[in-house]
Amino acid sequence: MLTFDDIYGNSHLKERLIRTVKSGNALNSYIFEGADGIGKKTTADIFAAALLCESGSGSPCGKCDACIKCASHNHPDIIYINKKKDKTTIGIDDVREQVMETVYVKPLLAERKIFIISDGDALTPGAQNGLLKILEEPPSYAVFITMVPKAAMLLDTVLSRSVRFTFLPLEQSEVYRYFSEHTEGSDEQLQFASRFSQGIIGRGLLLLEDESFSELYKKTVSLTELLLSKGSGIGDFERFLIENKEKLDFIIDFMMIFLRDCILSSLNMSEQILCRDKLYEIKNIAASVSKKALVGAADNVLRYQKRIAQNANTSAAALELLLSIREEMNDKGNRSQV
Ligand SMILES: [Zn+2]
Repeated sequence: MLTFDDIYGNSHLKERLIRTVKSGNALNSYIFEGADGIGKKTTADIFAAALLCESGSGSPCGKCDACIKCASHNHPDIIYINKKKDKTTIGIDDVREQVMETVYVKPLLAERKIFIISDGDALTPGAQNGLLKILEEPPSYAVFITMVPKAAMLLDTVLSRSVRFTFLPLEQSEVYRYFSEHTEGSDEQLQFASRFSQGIIGRGLLLLEDESFSELYKKTVSLTELLLSKGSGIGDFERFLIENKEKLDFIIDFMMIFLRDCILSSLNMSEQILCRDKLYEIKNIAASVSKKALVGAADNVLRYQKRIAQNANTSAAALELLLSIREEMNDKGNRSQV
């Protein structure tokens, strides 16, 4: 069973949680704030198990009855509140049904009853006000753990009655250590995934374990390569960006990694290249396109990222990006090493 020792990074946060468990004075509401894939759910499970564990050691012992039930997600005093399958939000009806009806019933086996809400950002204001009513006069045994990418997504009134834990991205070396201890893959793949993770283990895991994700990488890189080397494929690239608009964040990062690799290659720093599967293509681009044009292309990608963040029209922004990169290639690029 996982314990606090299995959490990589964020040691300040682990220590605070262990102290809380040992003190026996857990409060009624905790907010876990941090990017998807950063370890909030794992930590919430460990924290919940530690609170219910009979050993009193501060971390789950893995041996007592409570721990065994927690490990299989079968402890009757841990209640998971999730979005219903056909819904995008958690509304007041869900809170009534899943929280209000049970929160005032004493825990069955343990001293505490724990409610874990993993999609806190899906809570409607109505649902949050429902929770707030409970938090205003909570039964002493109740503990809520609510997870959100950013705490500001919750009402101030909820935040003010909660203790906040902010999960920070890990060092790249720490992510690499996690991958080398928990996943299989060549050193090159692990290096790439660690860089791509941006300090978020779950993000890198997508690349290592999710087939559709490595497809997304391959497609992005081959379209980028075509655009940089021949200035072609704009129609396909535009369609790809529009069809995958939910994943633009990842696509943009793949493009940036590829462009960075081309720049490294033109600086004769090939040993630092991350897209090792594209060494040959990267060398060719570095030989035919100037550094200045590559840097200009990277700037265009960053501008595109900003526009997307400001909710620009997906199609117009995509076309503008691709045309501007082609222009860089034509104007300053070809065969004139600057
Ligand atoms: Zn235990």
